[in-house]
Amino acid sequence: MEVNQVIAKRNERRRQHYAANREQVLERNRQYYEANREQMLERKRQRYTTNREQELEYKRQFRAANREKMLDRSRRENAHLRTVVLAHYGESCACCGTTERLSIDHVNGDGKQHREELFGGVAMYRWLVRNAFPEGFQTLCMPCNRSKGTGESCRLTHAEMAA
Ligand SMILES: [Zn+2]
Ligand SMILES: [Zn+2]
Repeated sequence: MEVNQVIAKRNERRRQHYAANREQVLERNRQYYEANREQMLERKRQRYTTNREQELEYKRQFRAANREKMLDRSRRENAHLRTVVLAHYGESCACCGTTERLSIDHVNGDGKQHREELFGGVAMYRWLVRNAFPEGFQTLCMPCNRSKGTGESCRLTHAEMAA
């Protein structure tokens, strides 16, 4: 049938045209999507990177500021505790008289020496203040305290003090 053949041919051309167009359209869409996707991903990446860097920088600055503040506060607290404790137990070594490298000695430390060492420094100052400066403690410098150890007294000669 001639009419059917014409229709068939036209349909075939249409189909081909559509197929070709569809391919073009799909290709254009694909390219557009690709280009856009890249841009979008890049924008996302930049935004993420910028935000992340800003956030990290902010956090870093905040930590630094806070760390300084906290260190400063604890330094002042410790210095204050130390001043208060030394004002009570003596501002110089009970043995050699130096005012350098002072520490608090448990006079009859005996078996508790190890514990006292662990308990030294700021924790000890705090404990002494909290317990209203109990008896049995004295100010000793580090060398005298170390020399005394668990013994009766310091075994250093302190020739320079006598001079
Ligand atoms: Zn001393
Ligand atoms: Zn001494």
